[in-house]
Amino acid sequence: MSRSPAIPELRADLLAWYRENRRDLPWRRTGDPYAIWVSEIMLQQTQVATVIPYYQAFLERFPDVASLAAAGEEEVLARWSGLGYYRRARMLHAGAKAVMERHGGRVPRDPAEILALPGVGRYTAGAIASIAFDLCEPILDGNVRRVLSRWYALDDPPGSGLDRTLWERAALLAQGPDPGDLNQALMELGATVCSPKDPRCLTCPVRRHCEACRQGRPEAFPRPVPRARTRTVQVAAAWIERGDKVLLERPAGLSPFRGNWDLPAREIPATGGKGRSTGAAGAGEAGAAGVLARELERDHGLEVAPEAQAGRARHGILDRRLDIAILPCRLLKGRVSGRKNLRWAPLAELEEQAVSGVTHKIRRALAGRPGKQPV
Ligand code: SF4
Repeated sequence: MSRSPAIPELRADLLAWYRENRRDLPWRRTGDPYAIWVSEIMLQQTQVATVIPYYQAFLERFPDVASLAAAGEEEVLARWSGLGYYRRARMLHAGAKAVMERHGGRVPRDPAEILALPGVGRYTAGAIASIAFDLCEPILDGNVRRVLSRWYALDDPPGSGLDRTLWERAALLAQGPDPGDLNQALMELGATVCSPKDPRCLTCPVRRHCEACRQGRPEAFPRPVPRARTRTVQVAAAWIERGDKVLLERPAGLSPFRGNWDLPAREIPATGGKGRSTGAAGAGEAGAAGVLARELERDHGLEVAPEAQAGRARHGILDRRLDIAILPCRLLKGRVSGRKNLRWAPLAELEEQAVSGVTHKIRRALAGRPGKQPV
């Protein structure tokens, strides 16, 4: 049977540990709600070490809500390039515009108004309200979910009301002095001590409050979420050069890629029967080239001549694993200039373009080939 820890003692132990041990991260040196908002959005699905340089550069270019709201989407996405999940950047941009329109350029203090901003969910609203405004608002992200499940030994299956219970526990914990530090301490403990597979219970500052530890089976909590099966998708990507530029496409739902601008690419439809490899590998290089040529002509009126495959790259997006055949192509016919969804990007500037990680991988795969220097 699980026991509930005494909240005042638990809070005190956690806060004392956090103040001694917290990592010195750039967003912890500010109380600016806008900067905290930017950091929280960047940290979604992305590791701290990756975020730090992007956060600093982004704030240098867009130091406040007004500068972000006034920027063009292209530039915002370019500054986000390499962080991935570009929807976050679009929503943050939309959020900055909403703050200008609804709140005169000041991030609102009321949690309900923060939550009403585009791209702000319950977790982000709680983080901004507690960290920037010192309000007793809870947070629940992956780290906090794991820590609370262990403290309270909750192993209810996902979807059984577990999240509601965890939000309630997080709300109880947030009540009291320094809710912002308390919330950050919860996240910090999950990130640095109470890890999913190897929790460091022996040196954990709150082990005396932890029911999972008392039971001697911390890894049993929370109950693992059944993994969605990953699906391998065969893709053909076109590398089309003109002088010192390469052709990029704004995917717009046609491409299996998800960046703002990426190499033109198309999924190769499955051709095999049960258990067979499908797509580019199954249909062969000629099949991949045929699909690419046909679909670029259909979608853009471009006539291209794919050459021999120059390399392969692999890239995971959510539950899909892309197996990408890279085909250099000659552009025989078709107009690019003035098109909304096509443009020539200077090779030397490709690093700074808002292309997704997959296009960077392809560029690197080609750069490693003898006799090929795409960038
Ligand atoms: S005692 Fe172990 S399981 Fe419990 S919070 Fe600490 S590290 Fe996590």
